[in-house]
Amino acid sequence: MTIKDIMKYIESEYTIINDTPCEICGGDYISRDSDVAVINGIPYDICDCICSECGHEKTFQFCAPFIEDKDLKNIRGILN
Ligand SMILES: [Zn+2]
Repeated sequence: MTIKDIMKYIESEYTIINDTPCEICGGDYISRDSDVAVINGIPYDICDCICSECGHEKTFQFCAPFIEDKDLKNIRGILN
């Protein structure tokens, strides 16, 4: 897995976020913050989003088992 592949994966996550309407008003979610967390030994990409219309907050979690420990720092660098 190269950083380029990981970026492609992250892009597809943003596609999912963009395709998900707000459950309150149907508006678009925008990404506020993103981080990688390890839960039960499996890395997850955690993306905090907020509705651009009504401000409803939603957290998207994407399982990212391909991310290795050595990549975590790099990915954090990309996301922030
Ligand atoms: Zn909304």
